[in-house]
This record gives sequence, C-alpha cells and structure tokens, in this order.
Amino acid sequence: MSAATLADHAVAGPRAAETVVRLRDVVKTYGDVQALRGVSLDVTAGELVAVVGPSGSGKSTMLNTVGTLDRPTSGTVTIAGHDVGSMRDDDLSRLRAEHIGFVFQHFHLQAGATAAENVADGLLYAGVPRRARMERAVDALGRVGLEHRVGHRPPQLSGGEKQRVAIARAIVGDPTILLADEPTGALDTASGRKILGLLRELNDAGTTVLVITHDLALAASLPRQVRMRDGAVEDDSSTSDAGALADAIVGAGR
Ligand code: ADP
Repeated sequence: MSAATLADHAVAGPRAAETVVRLRDVVKTYGDVQALRGVSLDVTAGELVAVVGPSGSGKSTMLNTVGTLDRPTSGTVTIAGHDVGSMRDDDLSRLRAEHIGFVFQHFHLQAGATAAENVADGLLYAGVPRRARMERAVDALGRVGLEHRVGHRPPQLSGGEKQRVAIARAIVGDPTILLADEPTGALDTASGRKILGLLRELNDAGTTVLVITHDLALAASLPRQVRMRDGAVEDDSSTSDAGALADAIVGAGR
C-alpha cells in the first residue's frame, strides 16, 4: 500500500490550522470519582497526538468525550466547529458519523460477519445505501492492505489483521478525526508497530489522529504527546515546546 493510494482518499477536510478538537475546563464525574478534573486541550487539523498516562488517569474518558460518547459534567467540547454541549442525541450521532472514527483495543468486530460486512457497518448511520456501503468497505479494506481478506471472518484473521479491519471500519466514512484507544494493546510488538505505521499513513493523508498508548517508546516517536495524571493534563509536549521556544527567545533577547 502506498501513501499515494491513501492520499487519493484524503478528504477535503477542515482547512490546515483549523482547530478540530477544543476542550475547555472539561470535568467528568462518575459518582464520587472525578475522571476528568478540568481538561483543556486544542488539537489542530492534521495533528497526530499520543495520549499517555497511568491506568485510571482519565485517558479513555477524555477520548470518549472528544468522540462525543461521553457528555462532560461541566466545561465545553467543540468538535469540528460544533459546540456539542447544546446538541441533541440524534445531532450528535450525525456529527459522529460525519467526523469521528473509533478504534478500540479489542477490535469490537462481529465474529459472524465478513471483514467487508464489519467495515460496511461503519456507514450504517451515514445514510449510505447497502450496495454503496459494501463497495466503500472493500475500498477501505484496500486502504489498510487487506484487499485479500474481504470475505474472511474475524476468527480467520490474525490480531493485527483484525485491528486493520477495525481501522477500515473507522475510516470508511472518511472521518475528520480518528480516535484510537490502545489499538496496539492486544497485539504483539511487531503487529503493534505496523498498526501504528498505518495510523501514521492515514495521518499523512490528512486525518487527525489521537491515539492512547502504553508504549512510551512508540509515543515518543509521535510528533505530540499529551500526558495525563489524576484526570488532568500533566504535560503537553506541544505547549512545553512552545514554552521552551518562548524561553529561548526571551533568553536570547536578554
Ligand atoms: P484510563 O483510560 O487512563 O485508564 P479512565 O478514563 O478509564 O482512565 O478512567 C478514569 C477514572 O474514571 C478511573 O478512576 C475509572 O475507574 C473511572 N471511570 C471511568 N469510566 C467510569 C464509569 N463508566 N463509571 C464509573 N467510573 C468510571
């Protein structure tokens, strides 16, 4: 699979430098547990962001909030220019269908359905007729290098192949933002690296990607790392880089 093939599918998405994710003071509580304690984050179109931090630090809750699966207890969430706080559930479903793709650690595929049928499910809420859904599913499987597996069912596929099917399902609707929650967590190291390579290719082709990972070496290889702890952003390499740059400029002017 060449980058050119993926680039052919790059969507006419938001303009470069447009903020596609904007969280402001987002708090999420579950009973007594404060999963998020005031998270603010901006992600620009075309970014590839690693989200790291200990278990229980709020990474999944943050990703689900960006994906509009979780509503915050307080604070504002703006996705592709839409303030989601004021949106009704059916409008949120439409926003998700248009802008968001999800990938999970354990794939969440239907074992009895073929790879193509699983991928076509990614268009169920996009109002695409069945035949067109299947055509686009086969096309998406080609984009993840699985054109030879369209008729296979998940039990006949390796872990890495299953995750490719899940990624194809996430991108079949050409989302603005791809959210991946530990997509390499259930894979061996080599398969995990290949999956990350695929996320990079999709990002090169224009998709904004947020990926939760426990693999710190892998996270360090990505352009931006957001580190969470106790429900807050403890460190964000993009802002710390900006801070370091500002320090350098101020220092040079002294
Ligand atoms: P991480 O992804 O970093 O492991 P999570 O976002 O899953 O962290 O969880 C953050 C905190 O919120 C944890 O203390 C977790 O137990 C709690 N939490 C997450 N989801 C729920 C839920 N649906 N109900 C109750 N508590 C939850």
